[in-house]
Amino acid sequence: MSQCVRVAEKAFDYRVPLVVIGAGAAGLVAALSAHEAGEEVLVLERDPLPRGSTALSAGLVPAAATRWQRAAGIVDTPELFAGDILRKAHGEPDAQIVDHVTRLAGPVLEWLADRHDLKFSVIEDFSYPGHSARRMHGLASRSGEELIDALRAAAEACEIPVICDAHVTTLFADETDRVLGLAFARPDGSLEEIGCDRLILACNGYGGNRALVAEHIPSLADATYFGHAGNQGDALSWGQALGAATRHLNGHQGHGSVAHPAGILISWATITEGGFQVNSQGERFSNEAKGYSEQAAEVLKQPDGVAWTVFDARIAAITRQFEDFRRAEAMGAVLSAESLPQLAVRMGLPEEALRRTAEAVDACKQAGAQDGFGRDFAGSQPLSAPYCAVRVTGALFHTQGGLVIDTQARVLRPDGTPLPNLYAAGGAACGVSGNDASGYLSGNGLLTAVTLGRTAGATVAAGRG
Ligand SMILES: Cc1cc2nc3c(=O)[nH]c(=O)nc-3n(C[C@H](O)[C@H](O)[C@H](O)COP(=O)(O)OP(=O)(O)OC[C@H]3O[C@@H](n4cnc5c(N)ncnc54)[C@H](O)[C@@H]3O)c2cc1C
Repeated sequence: MSQCVRVAEKAFDYRVPLVVIGAGAAGLVAALSAHEAGEEVLVLERDPLPRGSTALSAGLVPAAATRWQRAAGIVDTPELFAGDILRKAHGEPDAQIVDHVTRLAGPVLEWLADRHDLKFSVIEDFSYPGHSARRMHGLASRSGEELIDALRAAAEACEIPVICDAHVTTLFADETDRVLGLAFARPDGSLEEIGCDRLILACNGYGGNRALVAEHIPSLADATYFGHAGNQGDALSWGQALGAATRHLNGHQGHGSVAHPAGILISWATITEGGFQVNSQGERFSNEAKGYSEQAAEVLKQPDGVAWTVFDARIAAITRQFEDFRRAEAMGAVLSAESLPQLAVRMGLPEEALRRTAEAVDACKQAGAQDGFGRDFAGSQPLSAPYCAVRVTGALFHTQGGLVIDTQARVLRPDGTPLPNLYAAGGAACGVSGNDASGYLSGNGLLTAVTLGRTAGATVAAGRG
């Protein structure tokens, strides 16, 4: 249980200039950034090993005008990227933050590649909904596990101290809201205290906290949480106790394509490349192409809260670049058959209904037309044998609302003034997705983790806070 204790002053046996709470992408990038600028930094992580939601993710970071895009002949600009984010989020996010993160994303990835040997490449063979250019960058396995391991290796190479098994429970702050230090619990229950001059909150949002999810995101109150369980909303509660403004607490990333019961993310390439979803009656129920985030609630509304994603071997070949998909195949979660009737039998769905649905989709594709749900099939290839299907459910991946920050990652009060020495990055801060699931543009999560991490570290080190 996190708390903020007010004290006039407090002596600590041990002090560091900068503490970062959380060793996910935001925390490790913040630490690398601060360290590079000469700041002495300590990272505290509650788990035995840095993982966070970052390790569970596909590790894909959107960025515009990168050298990888240029090499692939992809034309893109930060302005185009910012426009996509604002359009998807109905104009709700802070335009200055959107401008900041979209300008910074490319340079941050190139810095991580050049300084810390993270070998990014751009996904060239399929598009994500709402992105007007192919701009998702990832490491070779397209897995967050590889990303977090690479960031951890970079921190180790820089000899940045990362204390694991250090669950921060308490902030100590004075009457001016200045953080003086903190206490963290060790696995044996003992408590240790450290003083700090500045604090970066990089401990993500509140997806792992059922009560907060029920309060802020009632539509997913009973949904599976697919993110990191340790993200309990500590940043939010500390920030609120210190008088910080919060925004868009209903904002989140859902996902309508988690293999069930295998519990493995199935890439949305299955949809954007021409697949579709049906319920247990073999009928479509939505415009899947709007985005995977809002599709979580659509899938959960179907009988038993499940649906089937139907695609074909061509699409499977594209999706196989994702380690998760390869794992799902190895576990037998991806069914395939030489004909649709055979596939229907394997899925346990009415053959006739699935055939009718597939024919209606094909007709739309051939006509380049929109269907009754408003999905535009123009340019989409018809499915062909062999066919594939995965049973999926909807899940909550992470929350997008949080502490209001400025473009220096300083945490702000409701009147717009910054708290004396508190910064936030990644899921701890209010993101750029607005106030509901439909505002999430693919990659918004790691986008704000790496860019605001970079910003927070640099701001602190520059002593501008
Ligand atoms: C299945 C899945 C797939 C995803 N795929 C993508 C994707 O491809 N692209 C994308 O952009 N986003 C994706 N996301 C979202 C993305 O993972 C997150 O937005 C991002 O990882 C957030 O980074 P972070 O550093 O803020 O948080 P995290 O990576 O969760 O790190 C926070 C860390 O803080 C620690 N912590 C929490 N509280 C405390 C405390 N009190 N004391 C000490 N430590 C604490 C946690 O243990 C954790 O290690 C995905 C999410 C999921 C669940």
